[in-house]
Amino acid sequence: MDPAPAPANPDDENAENKPRLNFVEQIIEKDLAEGKNDGRVHTRFPPEPNGYLHIGHAKSICLNFGLAKKYNGRCNLRFDDTNPTKEDVEYVHSIQNDIRWLGFEWDELHYASDRFEQLFQYAERLVMEGKAYVDSQSAEELQANRGTINQAGTDSPFRERSIEDNLDLFRRMKAGEFIDGEHVLRAKIDMAHPNMLMRDPLMYRIRHATHHRTGDDWCIYPMYDWAHGQCDSLEGITHSVCTLEFETHRILYDWFIQQLGIHASHQYEFARLNLDYMVMSKRKFLELVEGNFVTGWDDPRMPTIGGLRRRGYTPESIRAFCERIGVAKFNSTVEMMWLEQAAREHLNKVTPRIMGVLDPVKLIVDNYSEDGEPDLLDAVNNPEDESYGKRQVQFSKELYIEREDFMEDAPKRYHRLAPGREVRLRYAYFVTCTHCVKDSDGNIIEVHCKYDPETRGGNATDGRKVKGTIHWVSVDHAVDVEVRLYDRLFSVENPNEAPEGGDWKDNLNPDSLTIVAAAKIEPEIANGEPGTKYQLERTGYFCLDADSTAEKLLLNRTVGLRDSWAKLQEPRGGQPKRKKGGK
Ligand code: ATP
Ligand code: MG
Repeated sequence: MDPAPAPANPDDENAENKPRLNFVEQIIEKDLAEGKNDGRVHTRFPPEPNGYLHIGHAKSICLNFGLAKKYNGRCNLRFDDTNPTKEDVEYVHSIQNDIRWLGFEWDELHYASDRFEQLFQYAERLVMEGKAYVDSQSAEELQANRGTINQAGTDSPFRERSIEDNLDLFRRMKAGEFIDGEHVLRAKIDMAHPNMLMRDPLMYRIRHATHHRTGDDWCIYPMYDWAHGQCDSLEGITHSVCTLEFETHRILYDWFIQQLGIHASHQYEFARLNLDYMVMSKRKFLELVEGNFVTGWDDPRMPTIGGLRRRGYTPESIRAFCERIGVAKFNSTVEMMWLEQAAREHLNKVTPRIMGVLDPVKLIVDNYSEDGEPDLLDAVNNPEDESYGKRQVQFSKELYIEREDFMEDAPKRYHRLAPGREVRLRYAYFVTCTHCVKDSDGNIIEVHCKYDPETRGGNATDGRKVKGTIHWVSVDHAVDVEVRLYDRLFSVENPNEAPEGGDWKDNLNPDSLTIVAAAKIEPEIANGEPGTKYQLERTGYFCLDADSTAEKLLLNRTVGLRDSWAKLQEPRGGQPKRKKGGK
Protein backbone atom coordinates (compact mmCIF):
# COMPACT_ATOMS: atom_id res chain seq x y z
CA MET A 1 0.00 0.00 0.00
CA ASP A 2 1.24 3.44 -0.80
CA PRO A 3 1.79 5.69 2.18
CA ALA A 4 -0.99 8.19 2.73
CA PRO A 5 -0.16 11.56 1.25
CA ALA A 6 0.01 14.27 3.88
CA PRO A 7 -3.18 16.28 4.05
CA ALA A 8 -2.58 19.67 2.57
CA ASN A 9 -4.51 22.72 1.66
CA PRO A 10 -4.33 22.99 -2.10
CA ASP A 11 -5.45 26.62 -1.95
CA ASP A 12 -2.43 27.66 -0.01
CA GLU A 13 0.57 27.83 -2.25
CA ASN A 14 3.32 28.48 0.25
CA ALA A 15 1.95 26.17 2.88
CA GLU A 16 5.17 24.20 3.24
CA ASN A 17 6.27 25.33 6.68
CA LYS A 18 3.32 26.91 8.36
CA PRO A 19 0.33 25.22 9.93
CA ARG A 20 -2.05 24.51 7.13
CA LEU A 21 -5.33 26.22 7.71
CA ASN A 22 -8.28 26.21 5.38
CA PHE A 23 -9.84 29.57 4.67
CA VAL A 24 -12.60 29.13 7.26
CA GLU A 25 -10.02 28.31 9.90
CA GLN A 26 -8.10 31.41 8.90
CA ILE A 27 -11.24 33.51 9.40
CA ILE A 28 -11.94 31.90 12.75
CA GLU A 29 -8.39 32.39 13.99
CA LYS A 30 -8.53 36.03 12.97
CA ASP A 31 -11.88 36.48 14.74
CA LEU A 32 -10.53 34.80 17.85
CA ALA A 33 -7.41 36.98 17.78
CA GLU A 34 -9.62 40.07 17.55
CA GLY A 35 -11.80 38.88 20.40
CA LYS A 36 -14.95 38.68 18.29
CA ASN A 37 -18.03 36.75 19.51
CA ASP A 38 -16.55 36.74 23.05
CA GLY A 39 -14.10 34.17 21.86
CA ARG A 40 -16.86 31.72 20.98
CA VAL A 41 -16.94 29.44 17.97
CA HIS A 42 -20.39 28.03 17.25
CA THR A 43 -21.20 26.27 13.99
CA ARG A 44 -24.13 24.23 12.78
CA PHE A 45 -25.00 21.61 10.21
CA PRO A 46 -28.42 22.47 8.74
CA PRO A 47 -29.81 19.68 6.53
CA GLU A 48 -33.26 19.74 5.07
CA PRO A 49 -34.90 16.42 6.03
CA ASN A 50 -35.96 15.68 2.47
CA GLY A 51 -33.61 12.80 1.73
CA TYR A 52 -30.65 10.81 2.96
CA LEU A 53 -27.26 12.35 3.51
CA HIS A 54 -24.56 11.88 0.90
CA ILE A 55 -20.80 12.23 0.76
CA GLY A 56 -21.24 15.95 -0.07
CA HIS A 57 -22.96 16.40 3.27
CA ALA A 58 -20.13 14.49 4.91
CA LYS A 59 -17.80 17.24 3.75
CA SER A 60 -19.99 19.84 5.42
CA ILE A 61 -20.37 17.70 8.56
CA CYS A 62 -16.63 17.14 8.88
CA LEU A 63 -16.05 20.85 8.39
CA ASN A 64 -18.66 22.15 10.81
CA PHE A 65 -18.20 19.58 13.56
CA GLY A 66 -14.46 19.60 12.94
CA LEU A 67 -14.23 23.38 13.44
CA ALA A 68 -16.18 23.21 16.68
CA LYS A 69 -13.90 20.47 17.96
CA LYS A 70 -10.71 22.20 16.90
CA TYR A 71 -11.64 25.53 18.48
CA ASN A 72 -13.32 24.18 21.60
CA GLY A 73 -16.61 25.40 20.30
CA ARG A 74 -20.04 23.98 19.73
CA CYS A 75 -21.82 22.58 16.72
CA ASN A 76 -25.58 22.26 16.39
CA LEU A 77 -27.62 19.97 14.27
CA ARG A 78 -30.50 21.95 12.84
CA PHE A 79 -33.19 20.52 10.67
CA ASP A 80 -34.11 23.11 8.11
CA ASP A 81 -37.67 21.81 7.96
CA THR A 82 -39.54 24.67 6.36
CA ASN A 83 -40.89 22.79 3.35
CA PRO A 84 -43.60 20.40 4.62
CA THR A 85 -44.41 18.73 1.32
CA LYS A 86 -40.98 17.19 0.77
CA GLU A 87 -39.92 16.38 4.29
CA ASP A 88 -40.38 13.35 6.45
CA VAL A 89 -39.51 12.07 9.89
CA GLU A 90 -37.88 9.03 8.25
CA TYR A 91 -35.21 11.42 6.96
CA VAL A 92 -34.86 13.12 10.33
CA HIS A 93 -33.93 9.79 11.89
CA SER A 94 -31.61 8.65 9.14
CA ILE A 95 -29.73 11.96 9.20
CA GLN A 96 -29.10 11.69 12.95
CA ASN A 97 -28.01 8.10 12.54
CA ASP A 98 -25.61 8.97 9.73
CA ILE A 99 -24.00 11.88 11.58
CA ARG A 100 -23.38 9.67 14.61
CA TRP A 101 -22.04 6.90 12.44
CA LEU A 102 -19.59 9.36 10.94
CA GLY A 103 -18.35 9.92 14.47
CA PHE A 104 -19.88 13.26 15.44
CA GLU A 105 -22.30 14.35 18.13
CA TRP A 106 -24.15 17.66 18.12
CA ASP A 107 -24.18 19.97 21.11
CA GLU A 108 -27.75 21.12 20.50
CA LEU A 109 -30.52 19.74 18.35
CA HIS A 110 -32.85 22.28 16.75
CA TYR A 111 -35.61 22.41 14.22
CA ALA A 112 -36.37 25.48 12.17
CA SER A 113 -40.02 24.54 12.76
CA ASP A 114 -39.52 25.21 16.49
CA ARG A 115 -38.99 28.83 15.49
CA PHE A 116 -42.14 29.25 13.42
CA GLU A 117 -43.82 31.38 16.09
CA GLN A 118 -40.72 33.52 16.65
CA LEU A 119 -40.25 33.98 12.92
CA PHE A 120 -43.87 35.01 12.58
CA GLN A 121 -43.42 37.63 15.29
CA TYR A 122 -40.26 38.92 13.62
CA ALA A 123 -42.18 39.17 10.36
CA GLU A 124 -45.01 41.07 12.03
CA ARG A 125 -42.38 43.47 13.32
CA LEU A 126 -41.07 44.12 9.82
CA VAL A 127 -44.64 44.61 8.60
CA MET A 128 -45.28 47.13 11.36
CA GLU A 129 -42.10 48.96 10.47
CA GLY A 130 -43.14 49.15 6.83
CA LYS A 131 -40.37 46.75 5.78
CA ALA A 132 -42.58 43.94 4.58
CA TYR A 133 -45.87 43.80 2.73
CA VAL A 134 -48.50 41.35 1.57
CA ASP A 135 -48.47 40.93 -2.18
CA SER A 136 -51.49 39.49 -3.97
CA GLN A 137 -50.05 39.05 -7.43
CA SER A 138 -50.29 35.62 -9.02
CA ALA A 139 -47.19 33.43 -9.23
CA GLU A 140 -46.86 34.34 -12.92
CA GLU A 141 -47.09 38.05 -12.20
CA LEU A 142 -44.54 37.78 -9.42
CA GLN A 143 -42.18 36.05 -11.80
CA ALA A 144 -42.75 38.46 -14.67
CA ASN A 145 -42.30 41.53 -12.49
CA ARG A 146 -38.97 40.42 -11.05
CA GLY A 147 -37.18 41.73 -14.12
CA THR A 148 -33.95 40.18 -15.36
CA ILE A 149 -30.30 40.50 -14.50
CA ASN A 150 -30.03 43.44 -16.91
CA GLN A 151 -33.44 44.91 -16.31
CA ALA A 152 -34.94 46.26 -13.12
CA GLY A 153 -38.08 44.64 -11.78
CA THR A 154 -41.45 46.34 -11.58
CA ASP A 155 -43.03 47.40 -8.32
CA SER A 156 -46.04 45.36 -7.34
CA PRO A 157 -49.36 47.24 -7.42
CA PHE A 158 -49.73 46.06 -3.79
CA ARG A 159 -46.36 47.44 -2.67
CA GLU A 160 -47.83 50.54 -1.05
CA ARG A 161 -50.53 48.82 0.97
CA SER A 162 -50.98 50.40 4.35
CA ILE A 163 -49.31 48.87 7.37
CA GLU A 164 -52.76 48.16 8.87
CA ASP A 165 -53.89 46.30 5.75
CA ASN A 166 -50.66 44.36 5.58
CA LEU A 167 -50.85 43.34 9.20
CA ASP A 168 -54.47 42.33 8.86
CA LEU A 169 -53.84 40.30 5.70
CA PHE A 170 -50.72 38.66 7.09
CA ARG A 171 -52.56 37.57 10.24
CA ARG A 172 -55.41 36.25 8.14
CA MET A 173 -52.93 34.39 5.96
CA LYS A 174 -51.74 32.68 9.13
CA ALA A 175 -55.31 32.06 10.29
CA GLY A 176 -55.98 30.04 7.15
CA GLU A 177 -58.44 32.38 5.45
CA PHE A 178 -56.80 32.11 2.02
CA ILE A 179 -55.93 29.40 -0.40
CA ASP A 180 -52.43 28.48 -1.55
CA GLY A 181 -50.87 31.16 -3.69
CA GLU A 182 -53.49 33.81 -2.96
CA HIS A 183 -51.01 36.06 -1.13
CA VAL A 184 -47.37 36.12 -0.13
CA LEU A 185 -45.41 38.18 2.34
CA ARG A 186 -42.46 40.03 0.83
CA ALA A 187 -39.67 42.11 2.27
CA LYS A 188 -39.76 45.65 0.95
CA ILE A 189 -36.25 46.27 -0.28
CA ASP A 190 -35.65 47.40 -3.85
CA MET A 191 -37.19 46.11 -7.08
CA ALA A 192 -34.29 47.59 -9.04
CA HIS A 193 -31.54 46.01 -6.94
CA PRO A 194 -28.71 44.56 -9.07
CA ASN A 195 -28.91 41.36 -7.00
CA MET A 196 -32.24 39.86 -7.96
CA LEU A 197 -32.57 38.16 -4.58
CA MET A 198 -32.94 41.63 -3.06
CA ARG A 199 -35.91 42.51 -5.24
CA ASP A 200 -38.53 42.27 -2.53
CA PRO A 201 -37.80 38.62 -1.68
CA LEU A 202 -40.57 36.32 -0.54
CA MET A 203 -40.69 35.68 3.19
CA TYR A 204 -43.83 33.54 3.45
CA ARG A 205 -46.03 31.55 1.16
CA ILE A 206 -49.36 29.93 1.93
CA ARG A 207 -49.24 26.17 1.88
CA HIS A 208 -52.03 24.10 3.31
CA ALA A 209 -49.92 21.05 4.03
CA THR A 210 -49.35 18.90 7.08
CA HIS A 211 -45.88 19.31 8.52
CA HIS A 212 -44.10 16.27 9.96
CA ARG A 213 -43.64 18.05 13.30
CA THR A 214 -46.09 20.94 13.53
CA GLY A 215 -48.94 19.04 11.93
CA ASP A 216 -51.65 21.45 10.77
CA ASP A 217 -50.71 24.28 13.13
CA TRP A 218 -49.39 26.35 10.26
CA CYS A 219 -50.54 27.04 6.76
CA ILE A 220 -47.92 29.68 6.03
CA TYR A 221 -44.31 28.57 5.81
CA PRO A 222 -41.17 30.72 5.85
CA MET A 223 -38.85 30.77 2.86
CA TYR A 224 -35.26 29.54 3.25
CA ASP A 225 -33.81 33.07 3.27
CA TRP A 226 -36.19 34.26 5.92
CA ALA A 227 -35.70 31.23 8.17
CA HIS A 228 -32.05 30.41 7.87
CA GLY A 229 -30.25 33.51 9.10
CA GLN A 230 -32.76 34.08 11.89
CA CYS A 231 -32.32 30.50 13.11
CA ASP A 232 -28.55 30.98 13.02
CA SER A 233 -28.96 34.13 15.04
CA LEU A 234 -31.34 32.62 17.60
CA GLU A 235 -28.94 29.73 18.16
CA GLY A 236 -26.03 32.13 18.63
CA ILE A 237 -24.14 30.74 15.64
CA THR A 238 -20.92 32.64 15.02
CA HIS A 239 -19.77 31.12 11.72
CA SER A 240 -22.51 29.96 9.40
CA VAL A 241 -20.76 27.93 6.76
CA CYS A 242 -22.68 27.00 3.65
CA THR A 243 -22.00 26.11 0.04
CA LEU A 244 -21.13 28.54 -2.72
CA GLU A 245 -24.54 28.77 -4.32
CA PHE A 246 -25.59 30.83 -1.30
CA GLU A 247 -22.97 33.48 -1.89
CA THR A 248 -25.51 35.75 -3.58
CA HIS A 249 -27.87 35.22 -0.63
CA ARG A 250 -25.42 36.64 1.89
CA ILE A 251 -26.52 40.23 1.35
CA LEU A 252 -30.10 39.25 2.17
CA TYR A 253 -28.96 37.16 5.14
CA ASP A 254 -27.28 40.28 6.52
CA TRP A 255 -30.18 42.57 5.62
CA PHE A 256 -32.75 40.64 7.67
CA ILE A 257 -30.45 40.40 10.67
CA GLN A 258 -29.72 44.13 10.50
CA GLN A 259 -33.40 45.09 10.26
CA LEU A 260 -34.22 42.96 13.27
CA GLY A 261 -31.16 44.07 15.22
CA ILE A 262 -30.52 40.55 16.50
CA HIS A 263 -27.26 38.63 17.10
CA ALA A 264 -25.24 38.81 13.91
CA SER A 265 -23.92 35.50 12.74
CA HIS A 266 -21.87 35.59 9.56
CA GLN A 267 -22.19 33.47 6.51
CA TYR A 268 -19.18 32.01 4.70
CA GLU A 269 -19.33 29.93 1.58
CA PHE A 270 -17.21 26.97 0.50
CA ALA A 271 -17.26 24.74 -2.56
CA ARG A 272 -19.68 21.88 -2.85
CA LEU A 273 -18.16 18.49 -3.28
CA ASN A 274 -18.75 16.95 -6.68
CA LEU A 275 -17.37 13.59 -7.72
CA ASP A 276 -16.67 12.57 -11.26
CA TYR A 277 -18.88 9.80 -12.68
CA MET A 278 -21.48 10.72 -10.07
CA VAL A 279 -24.38 13.06 -9.41
CA MET A 280 -24.66 14.72 -6.01
CA SER A 281 -28.13 15.80 -5.10
CA LYS A 282 -30.81 14.35 -2.89
CA ARG A 283 -33.38 15.14 -5.56
CA LYS A 284 -31.54 13.07 -8.13
CA PHE A 285 -30.96 10.23 -5.69
CA LEU A 286 -34.67 10.23 -4.93
CA GLU A 287 -35.35 9.92 -8.65
CA LEU A 288 -33.01 6.92 -8.84
CA VAL A 289 -34.70 5.28 -5.86
CA GLU A 290 -38.25 5.95 -6.99
CA GLY A 291 -37.50 4.82 -10.52
CA ASN A 292 -35.95 1.57 -9.21
CA PHE A 293 -32.66 2.33 -10.91
CA VAL A 294 -31.07 1.35 -7.61
CA THR A 295 -32.32 -0.88 -4.81
CA GLY A 296 -32.83 1.97 -2.34
CA TRP A 297 -31.17 4.93 -0.62
CA ASP A 298 -28.54 2.61 0.75
CA ASP A 299 -27.79 0.79 -2.47
CA PRO A 300 -24.01 0.21 -2.24
CA ARG A 301 -23.53 2.00 -5.56
CA MET A 302 -24.96 5.23 -4.15
CA PRO A 303 -22.65 7.82 -2.55
CA THR A 304 -25.15 8.28 0.26
CA ILE A 305 -23.72 7.70 3.71
CA GLY A 306 -26.02 4.67 3.96
CA GLY A 307 -24.83 3.37 0.60
CA LEU A 308 -21.17 3.82 1.47
CA ARG A 309 -21.71 2.13 4.84
CA ARG A 310 -23.40 -0.82 3.22
CA ARG A 311 -20.68 -1.01 0.62
CA GLY A 312 -18.11 -1.35 3.41
CA TYR A 313 -16.71 2.15 3.81
CA THR A 314 -15.65 3.05 7.33
CA PRO A 315 -16.32 6.41 8.99
CA GLU A 316 -12.55 6.79 9.31
CA SER A 317 -12.08 6.48 5.57
CA ILE A 318 -14.79 9.04 4.82
CA ARG A 319 -13.34 11.48 7.34
CA ALA A 320 -9.87 11.00 5.89
CA PHE A 321 -11.22 11.66 2.42
CA CYS A 322 -12.92 14.87 3.55
CA GLU A 323 -9.73 15.99 5.26
CA ARG A 324 -7.68 15.29 2.19
CA ILE A 325 -9.88 17.08 -0.35
CA GLY A 326 -9.73 20.22 1.78
CA VAL A 327 -12.02 23.20 1.80
CA ALA A 328 -11.83 25.57 -1.12
CA LYS A 329 -13.65 28.58 -2.45
CA PHE A 330 -14.05 27.45 -6.03
CA ASN A 331 -16.21 24.65 -7.35
CA SER A 332 -14.44 21.60 -8.58
CA THR A 333 -14.88 17.94 -9.24
CA VAL A 334 -12.89 15.42 -7.26
CA GLU A 335 -11.99 12.11 -8.79
CA MET A 336 -13.82 9.15 -7.32
CA MET A 337 -10.53 7.29 -6.97
CA TRP A 338 -9.63 9.48 -3.98
CA LEU A 339 -12.62 8.21 -2.10
CA GLU A 340 -11.72 4.66 -3.03
CA GLN A 341 -8.12 5.23 -2.07
CA ALA A 342 -9.18 6.48 1.36
CA ALA A 343 -11.18 3.28 1.82
CA ARG A 344 -8.22 1.10 0.85
CA GLU A 345 -5.88 2.86 3.22
CA HIS A 346 -8.08 2.36 6.23
CA LEU A 347 -9.35 -1.10 5.33
CA ASN A 348 -5.78 -2.22 4.82
CA LYS A 349 -5.18 -1.54 8.50
CA VAL A 350 -8.38 -2.96 9.94
CA THR A 351 -9.53 -5.90 7.88
CA PRO A 352 -8.68 -9.52 8.56
CA ARG A 353 -7.47 -11.35 5.48
CA ILE A 354 -9.18 -14.40 4.16
CA MET A 355 -8.95 -16.33 0.92
CA GLY A 356 -11.81 -16.52 -1.52
CA VAL A 357 -12.16 -17.52 -5.15
CA LEU A 358 -14.63 -15.61 -7.28
CA ASP A 359 -14.32 -17.53 -10.52
CA PRO A 360 -13.39 -21.04 -9.44
CA VAL A 361 -11.69 -23.83 -11.32
CA LYS A 362 -10.60 -27.02 -9.56
CA LEU A 363 -6.97 -27.67 -8.85
CA ILE A 364 -6.26 -31.34 -8.10
CA VAL A 365 -3.08 -32.11 -6.22
CA ASP A 366 -2.44 -35.57 -7.62
CA ASN A 367 0.36 -36.68 -5.30
CA TYR A 368 -1.37 -35.45 -2.13
CA SER A 369 -2.80 -38.05 0.19
CA GLU A 370 -5.61 -37.19 2.58
CA ASP A 371 -4.89 -40.03 4.95
CA GLY A 372 -4.05 -39.03 8.47
CA GLU A 373 -4.61 -35.82 10.40
CA PRO A 374 -6.26 -32.81 8.71
CA ASP A 375 -3.57 -30.61 7.20
CA LEU A 376 -4.04 -27.26 8.95
CA LEU A 377 -1.82 -24.41 7.89
CA ASP A 378 -1.07 -21.24 9.80
CA ALA A 379 -2.28 -18.04 8.14
CA VAL A 380 -1.66 -14.49 9.32
CA ASN A 381 -4.89 -12.57 9.76
CA ASN A 382 -3.49 -9.11 9.25
CA PRO A 383 0.13 -8.43 8.36
CA GLU A 384 -0.44 -4.77 9.33
CA ASP A 385 -1.48 -5.62 12.86
CA GLU A 386 -0.22 -8.54 14.91
CA SER A 387 -3.09 -8.32 17.35
CA TYR A 388 -5.35 -9.86 14.71
CA GLY A 389 -3.52 -13.11 15.33
CA LYS A 390 -3.48 -16.20 13.18
CA ARG A 391 -5.96 -18.72 11.94
CA GLN A 392 -5.66 -22.17 10.47
CA VAL A 393 -6.72 -22.96 6.94
CA GLN A 394 -7.33 -26.46 5.81
CA PHE A 395 -5.47 -27.93 2.88
CA SER A 396 -6.79 -30.82 0.82
CA LYS A 397 -6.37 -32.73 -2.39
CA GLU A 398 -9.04 -30.77 -4.22
CA LEU A 399 -8.82 -27.02 -4.21
CA TYR A 400 -10.39 -24.11 -6.00
CA ILE A 401 -8.22 -21.51 -7.61
CA GLU A 402 -9.15 -18.48 -9.71
CA ARG A 403 -9.69 -19.39 -13.34
CA GLU A 404 -7.45 -16.50 -14.32
CA ASP A 405 -4.59 -17.97 -12.28
CA PHE A 406 -4.13 -20.78 -14.81
CA MET A 407 -3.16 -20.48 -18.45
CA GLU A 408 -2.55 -23.35 -20.75
CA ASP A 409 -0.37 -21.41 -23.12
CA ALA A 410 1.21 -18.84 -20.88
CA PRO A 411 3.61 -16.11 -21.95
CA LYS A 412 6.91 -15.92 -20.15
CA ARG A 413 5.93 -13.08 -17.85
CA TYR A 414 2.90 -14.94 -16.54
CA HIS A 415 3.91 -15.91 -13.02
CA ARG A 416 0.96 -18.09 -12.16
CA LEU A 417 0.07 -21.66 -13.00
CA ALA A 418 0.83 -23.12 -16.40
CA PRO A 419 1.95 -26.59 -17.42
CA GLY A 420 5.46 -27.17 -16.10
CA ARG A 421 5.52 -24.05 -13.91
CA GLU A 422 5.84 -23.95 -10.15
CA VAL A 423 4.00 -21.47 -7.90
CA ARG A 424 3.33 -21.07 -4.21
CA LEU A 425 -0.13 -21.75 -2.85
CA ARG A 426 -0.47 -19.04 -0.21
CA TYR A 427 0.44 -20.33 3.30
CA ALA A 428 0.67 -23.87 1.94
CA TYR A 429 3.02 -25.54 -0.56
CA PHE A 430 4.83 -25.11 -3.82
CA VAL A 431 2.95 -26.89 -6.58
CA THR A 432 4.00 -27.66 -10.14
CA CYS A 433 1.31 -27.82 -12.78
CA THR A 434 1.21 -31.00 -14.83
CA HIS A 435 -1.78 -30.68 -17.12
CA CYS A 436 -5.41 -29.67 -17.38
CA VAL A 437 -8.61 -31.50 -18.28
CA LYS A 438 -11.25 -30.08 -20.60
CA ASP A 439 -14.87 -30.86 -21.32
CA SER A 440 -16.11 -31.69 -24.80
CA ASP A 441 -16.51 -27.96 -25.56
CA GLY A 442 -12.91 -27.28 -24.72
CA ASN A 443 -13.58 -25.55 -21.40
CA ILE A 444 -11.01 -26.21 -18.72
CA ILE A 445 -12.66 -28.09 -15.89
CA GLU A 446 -9.66 -29.26 -13.88
CA VAL A 447 -6.08 -28.26 -13.46
CA HIS A 448 -3.69 -30.87 -12.12
CA CYS A 449 -0.48 -30.42 -10.21
CA LYS A 450 2.02 -32.07 -7.89
CA TYR A 451 3.02 -30.58 -4.56
CA ASP A 452 6.34 -30.61 -2.79
CA PRO A 453 5.83 -31.68 0.86
CA GLU A 454 9.15 -30.05 1.75
CA THR A 455 7.67 -26.63 1.13
CA ARG A 456 5.00 -26.75 3.82
CA GLY A 457 4.21 -23.23 5.06
CA GLY A 458 5.21 -21.76 1.73
CA ASN A 459 9.00 -21.92 1.68
CA ALA A 460 11.38 -24.45 0.17
CA THR A 461 14.01 -25.97 2.46
CA ASP A 462 16.50 -25.98 -0.42
CA GLY A 463 16.10 -22.24 -0.86
CA ARG A 464 14.55 -22.43 -4.31
CA LYS A 465 12.26 -19.57 -5.19
CA VAL A 466 9.04 -19.21 -7.12
CA LYS A 467 7.84 -16.05 -8.82
CA GLY A 468 4.15 -16.31 -8.12
CA THR A 469 1.84 -16.89 -5.17
CA ILE A 470 -1.81 -17.65 -5.72
CA HIS A 471 -4.73 -18.01 -3.36
CA TRP A 472 -6.93 -21.06 -3.05
CA VAL A 473 -9.63 -22.67 -0.94
CA SER A 474 -10.30 -26.28 -0.13
CA VAL A 475 -13.25 -27.66 -2.11
CA ASP A 476 -14.67 -29.56 0.85
CA HIS A 477 -14.32 -26.69 3.28
CA ALA A 478 -15.19 -23.62 1.23
CA VAL A 479 -18.58 -22.01 1.69
CA ASP A 480 -20.69 -20.58 -1.11
CA VAL A 481 -21.20 -16.84 -0.96
CA GLU A 482 -23.07 -14.51 -3.28
CA VAL A 483 -20.69 -11.71 -4.14
CA ARG A 484 -21.75 -8.37 -5.57
CA LEU A 485 -19.11 -6.62 -7.63
CA TYR A 486 -19.83 -2.94 -8.05
CA ASP A 487 -18.63 -0.63 -10.73
CA ARG A 488 -19.32 3.06 -11.25
CA LEU A 489 -22.99 3.92 -11.20
CA PHE A 490 -22.57 6.20 -14.22
CA SER A 491 -20.51 5.63 -17.30
CA VAL A 492 -19.73 9.24 -18.19
CA GLU A 493 -17.54 11.71 -16.35
CA ASN A 494 -20.27 14.28 -15.82
CA PRO A 495 -23.58 12.46 -15.62
CA ASN A 496 -25.43 15.68 -14.78
CA GLU A 497 -25.34 16.55 -18.45
CA ALA A 498 -28.03 14.68 -20.29
CA PRO A 499 -27.05 13.20 -23.63
CA GLU A 500 -28.67 14.93 -26.57
CA GLY A 501 -32.38 14.41 -26.63
CA GLY A 502 -32.12 12.26 -23.50
CA ASP A 503 -32.19 12.34 -19.75
CA TRP A 504 -29.32 12.39 -17.23
CA LYS A 505 -30.38 8.89 -16.17
CA ASP A 506 -29.42 7.65 -19.62
CA ASN A 507 -25.87 8.03 -18.34
CA LEU A 508 -26.31 5.15 -15.88
CA ASN A 509 -23.79 2.38 -16.32
CA PRO A 510 -25.69 -0.79 -17.31
CA ASP A 511 -22.88 -2.89 -15.83
CA SER A 512 -22.62 -1.24 -12.44
CA LEU A 513 -23.50 -4.50 -10.70
CA THR A 514 -22.18 -7.97 -11.42
CA ILE A 515 -23.38 -10.81 -9.23
CA VAL A 516 -21.21 -13.84 -8.61
CA ALA A 517 -23.75 -16.41 -7.51
CA ALA A 518 -21.42 -18.79 -5.70
CA ALA A 519 -17.96 -17.59 -4.88
CA LYS A 520 -15.93 -20.09 -2.82
CA ILE A 521 -14.68 -18.61 0.39
CA GLU A 522 -12.83 -19.82 3.49
CA PRO A 523 -15.33 -21.13 6.06
CA GLU A 524 -14.21 -18.32 8.39
CA ILE A 525 -16.64 -16.03 6.54
CA ALA A 526 -19.63 -17.85 8.03
CA ASN A 527 -18.71 -16.43 11.44
CA GLY A 528 -19.12 -12.84 10.26
CA GLU A 529 -22.04 -10.61 11.12
CA PRO A 530 -23.58 -8.26 8.56
CA GLY A 531 -21.17 -5.34 8.23
CA THR A 532 -18.05 -7.41 8.88
CA LYS A 533 -15.23 -6.43 6.56
CA TYR A 534 -12.49 -8.53 5.02
CA GLN A 535 -9.70 -8.35 2.59
CA LEU A 536 -9.98 -11.23 0.16
CA GLU A 537 -6.33 -11.78 -0.53
CA ARG A 538 -5.19 -10.57 -3.93
CA THR A 539 -8.75 -9.52 -4.77
CA GLY A 540 -10.07 -6.59 -2.79
CA TYR A 541 -11.95 -5.35 0.24
CA PHE A 542 -15.37 -6.78 0.94
CA CYS A 543 -18.13 -6.36 3.47
CA LEU A 544 -20.95 -8.68 4.49
CA ASP A 545 -24.18 -7.08 3.35
CA ALA A 546 -26.87 -5.90 5.75
CA ASP A 547 -29.15 -8.66 4.44
CA SER A 548 -26.57 -11.42 4.78
CA THR A 549 -27.69 -14.43 6.83
CA ALA A 550 -26.12 -17.72 7.87
CA GLU A 551 -28.26 -19.45 5.25
CA LYS A 552 -27.39 -17.03 2.47
CA LEU A 553 -24.14 -15.18 2.81
CA LEU A 554 -23.96 -11.94 0.80
CA LEU A 555 -20.72 -10.13 0.28
CA ASN A 556 -20.27 -6.66 -1.25
CA ARG A 557 -17.04 -5.58 -2.86
CA THR A 558 -16.12 -2.24 -1.35
CA VAL A 559 -13.14 -1.59 -3.58
CA GLY A 560 -10.50 -3.56 -5.44
CA LEU A 561 -7.00 -3.83 -4.04
CA ARG A 562 -5.56 -1.51 -6.60
CA ASP A 563 -7.22 1.08 -8.71
CA SER A 564 -7.59 -0.36 -12.14
CA TRP A 565 -8.58 3.10 -13.40
CA ALA A 566 -5.55 4.78 -11.92
CA LYS A 567 -3.27 2.58 -13.96
CA LEU A 568 -4.76 4.11 -17.09
CA GLN A 569 -3.88 7.56 -15.91
CA GLU A 570 -0.66 9.54 -15.81
CA PRO A 571 1.30 9.16 -12.59
CA ARG A 572 0.87 12.13 -10.34
CA GLY A 573 1.51 13.37 -6.82
CA GLY A 574 -0.48 12.56 -3.74
CA GLN A 575 -3.09 15.26 -4.04
CA PRO A 576 -6.61 14.89 -5.33
CA LYS A 577 -6.66 16.51 -8.72
CA ARG A 578 -9.33 19.11 -9.11
CA LYS A 579 -11.03 19.84 -12.31
CA LYS A 580 -12.01 23.45 -12.15
CA GLY A 581 -15.46 24.65 -12.95
CA GLY A 582 -17.48 21.72 -11.67
CA LYS A 583 -21.21 21.92 -11.50
P1 ATP B 1 -29.02 18.50 -2.09
O1 ATP B 1 -29.01 19.34 -3.31
O2 ATP B 1 -28.30 17.22 -2.23
O3 ATP B 1 -30.39 18.34 -1.52
P2 ATP B 1 -28.68 20.55 -0.24
O4 ATP B 1 -27.61 21.58 -0.25
O5 ATP B 1 -30.03 20.98 -0.63
O6 ATP B 1 -28.18 19.32 -1.05
P3 ATP B 1 -29.15 20.45 2.54
O7 ATP B 1 -29.89 19.43 3.29
O8 ATP B 1 -29.76 21.78 2.43
O9 ATP B 1 -28.80 19.85 1.14
O10 ATP B 1 -27.66 20.58 3.06
C1 ATP B 1 -27.23 20.65 4.39
C2 ATP B 1 -25.84 21.20 4.38
O11 ATP B 1 -24.98 20.36 3.62
C3 ATP B 1 -25.80 22.56 3.74
O12 ATP B 1 -25.01 23.42 4.54
C4 ATP B 1 -25.20 22.32 2.40
O13 ATP B 1 -24.53 23.45 1.97
C5 ATP B 1 -24.28 21.12 2.66
N1 ATP B 1 -24.07 20.35 1.45
C6 ATP B 1 -24.99 19.78 0.67
N2 ATP B 1 -24.44 19.20 -0.42
C7 ATP B 1 -23.11 19.41 -0.32
C8 ATP B 1 -21.99 19.07 -1.13
N3 ATP B 1 -22.13 18.41 -2.27
N4 ATP B 1 -20.77 19.44 -0.70
C9 ATP B 1 -20.62 20.12 0.44
N5 ATP B 1 -21.63 20.47 1.24
C10 ATP B 1 -22.88 20.14 0.88
MG1 MG C 1 -31.82 21.55 -0.54
